[in-house]
Amino acid sequence: MSSGSAIRGSRIGSSPMRPDERSEPAPRREVTYWCAAGHSMEVRFAADVALPETWDCTRCGQPAGLDRANPPGRMRAEPYKSHLAYVKERRSDEDGEAILAEALAKVRQRRGE
Ligand SMILES: [Zn+2]
Repeated sequence: MSSGSAIRGSRIGSSPMRPDERSEPAPRREVTYWCAAGHSMEVRFAADVALPETWDCTRCGQPAGLDRANPPGRMRAEPYKSHLAYVKERRSDEDGEAILAEALAKVRQRRGE
């Protein structure tokens, strides 16, 4: 009986494989995002990855952008304008009166016929 020879010949545990810890990390870049509230946060991206235009602010949750002077979400700060407000902005009061007078004249003209 030659029992044990097969076990002795095995190499269990003889040369443990170690992960290569000296491999170089992928190149990265740090990008700063700014939110409308003035928070800044640094986000790390792999160098070969396209940067997202916006990043959720880690402090207030608002969308943050790459341009500090013009963060996303600013547009909401502008008060809502009605269509009439835009019309008034475009035309001076004088123009408005002229248009109104013209319209009245047409109505009178039509009535006079
Ligand atoms: Zn914020």
